[in-house]
Amino acid sequence: MREFDYRRADDVSGAVALLGADPDARYLGGGTNLVDLMKTGVERPARLVDVRTLPLDRIEPADDGGLRIGATVTNSDLAAHPLVRDRYPALAQAVLAGASGQLRNMATVGGNLLQRTRCGYFTDVTRPCNKRVPGSGCPALTGEHHNHAVLGASDHCVAVHPSDMGVALAAFDAVVSYETADGPGELALADFYLPVGDTPHRETALPPGALVTGVTLPPLPVAARSRYRKVRERASYAFAIGSVAAALDVSDGVVRDARLAFGAVASRPWRARAAERVLTGAPATAEYFAAAADAELAAARPLPDNGYKVTLMRNLVVAVLSELAEEAAR
Ligand SMILES: Cc1cc2nc3c(=O)[nH]c(=O)nc-3n(C[C@H](O)[C@H](O)[C@H](O)COP(=O)(O)OP(=O)(O)OC[C@H]3O[C@@H](n4cnc5c(N)ncnc54)[C@H](O)[C@@H]3O)c2cc1C
Ligand code: SF4
Repeated sequence: MREFDYRRADDVSGAVALLGADPDARYLGGGTNLVDLMKTGVERPARLVDVRTLPLDRIEPADDGGLRIGATVTNSDLAAHPLVRDRYPALAQAVLAGASGQLRNMATVGGNLLQRTRCGYFTDVTRPCNKRVPGSGCPALTGEHHNHAVLGASDHCVAVHPSDMGVALAAFDAVVSYETADGPGELALADFYLPVGDTPHRETALPPGALVTGVTLPPLPVAARSRYRKVRERASYAFAIGSVAAALDVSDGVVRDARLAFGAVASRPWRARAAERVLTGAPATAEYFAAAADAELAAARPLPDNGYKVTLMRNLVVAVLSELAEEAAR
């Protein structure tokens, strides 16, 4: 591991100043992803700025009825918070579906959103990878790609984003706040992750040196009836091969409002807007749930070994929406 300088910041502006404009410096959250990548040589920062002592560890109701979540709130505290469990249950479920208790105690909200892909070629520095070394190639296209993207990928990279938490945040229109030396800014989660295109190494729209300070959830009554369902290759302690965050408001057998996002199918948490358009105003039946899934998955471009994800996601959408509709009818 490369020798590095370690600094701890006491306030937000101090953290931003410590990182400065140095492209070789990184913020350190719980370290559960970054430190692993440093050990394998994927990341070789010259300086770490530890943000865990910043006063960003609160979850507070916003004036408009939404929720403001600080960037250093741990995944465990987020999942356990009564307002999260009551108003956005799919978010609590998504966080609890990720990693292990020990990891969730360390992992932060900011770090979870900015964790890197689990593509095996990305984490193996002996292999080419456009995301790690721009222009070096993408061996996943013809190699191991059974858990890679079926939506929104490009010929330059087919990796998926691994976050469970981000999928629920995408469904609920979360907004990410950040701080830079030039002042604060905000990005809707829908704009936070950049399209892959021919620049897979550029993952987010954050300005250079930006410190993520928090995430705001808008007031969203439909989110109170929401669910996160994750499919993985073993029962626990594994990343998703497909997941769904869904919220449904049904009355008189008709969908009044719906939110849907997919995980582990794209380079970012995938908001399923085409499916939502089909759902809104439609009868709350399995037939229409399947039509909604098909509308979204029509854009899928599977590789030879990951076409199963299209069927998996269709089944997952129908199952989760059917459960939510049954609950609404009780
Ligand atoms: C064995 C294992 C299993 C896992 N399983 C899952 C799973 O099933 N689902 C899932 O979603 N995740 C899973 N994870 C990933 C885990 O959730 C992430 O490692 C964790 O959320 C990252 O948070 P962190 O605070 O430790 O980030 P760090 O490792 O500290 O940082 C990650 C990245 O974010 C940057 N960063 C951190 N905080 C900020 C900030 N405030 N502003 C700007 N940049 C920042 C860092 O510079 C770094 O680039 C797993 C991890 C492991 C090791
Ligand atoms: S899919 Fe992306 S991360 Fe994986 S090898 Fe290809 S370029 Fe690298």
